[in-house]
Amino acid sequence: MKLFKKPILLLLFAALQLQGNCWGFFAHQKINYYAVFLLPPQLLTFYKPHIDFLSEHAVDPDKRRYLVAAEGPRHYIDIDHYGTFPYTNLPRQWDSAIAKFGEDTLLAHGIVPWWVQTMEHRLTAAFKEKDAARILKSSAELGHYVADAHVPLHTSSKHNGQLTGQQGIHGFWESRIPELLADKDWDFFIGKAYYIKAPGDFIWKRVLQSAAAADTVLQVERRLSQQFSTDKKFAFEERNGKVVRQYSTGFSKAYDAALHGMVERRMRDAIYAVASLWYTAWVDAGQPDLTQLANQNFSTEDLKEFQSLNDAGRSNSIKGREE
Ligand SMILES: [Zn+2]
Repeated sequence: MKLFKKPILLLLFAALQLQGNCWGFFAHQKINYYAVFLLPPQLLTFYKPHIDFLSEHAVDPDKRRYLVAAEGPRHYIDIDHYGTFPYTNLPRQWDSAIAKFGEDTLLAHGIVPWWVQTMEHRLTAAFKEKDAARILKSSAELGHYVADAHVPLHTSSKHNGQLTGQQGIHGFWESRIPELLADKDWDFFIGKAYYIKAPGDFIWKRVLQSAAAADTVLQVERRLSQQFSTDKKFAFEERNGKVVRQYSTGFSKAYDAALHGMVERRMRDAIYAVASLWYTAWVDAGQPDLTQLANQNFSTEDLKEFQSLNDAGRSNSIKGREE
């Protein structure tokens, strides 16, 4: 029996690895999609006709990890590397953090809270230039990084349960659970975007919320696994039209219930944050009239980049660490 189990497990991990991409493509696309509906009319008139682009390109940053080594650290921060909660040892300002730890260390442990701010500046600049193509690209990608910052395991060095024998939990939390429950059971019409006075403070707060939840994500799975035999925990079930071995529906629902709606709550918070940061960039740019934008078409260079990102997304090896 033992001899038989190992290859099955290896196969399982290979399958889970493939799905384990930052909130999963499904959730990233939903987050950008629903964020559009939280926008005030002045932004909605521009964003709504482009909702398919914003959803589809929500996953570009993940695809870029196959092409660009520098892309990896933008998606996470192993904040537990810097001591204990609330990690006051780590300066929140980029320059102060570099002065204290050096850029190599920061890059080695991930930079998502700072990268969100870089993208927020890019989007503000695009609004100031009234550049439609740049606004769309920056909005789609900002949405990705903001969403990643809301995932507990994106803020922990135990990001794939690798230290606790829980490999696969990353994709389980951020792909399997939302794919199973988001469309049927969760509610994403959640009020209106609001102006964020200090986007830096805001995103750090969200990162700390994620960090505070990381241990629960792991502990609850470990506890629940003791109540499920392996053949009840995993099952051959349909995913995107294919039958694959994955966390069973029963185990997934039990896990979601034991987390008391954490995954839905973080997804809702992510949607709210994405819409509010889009709105904030627009306000900070002086509220330009979005019916009068230049550069309505993507350049040949943009189109080439989209193509190479798509091709890369089909490849198998990520440059840098798998997150
Ligand atoms: Zn990501």
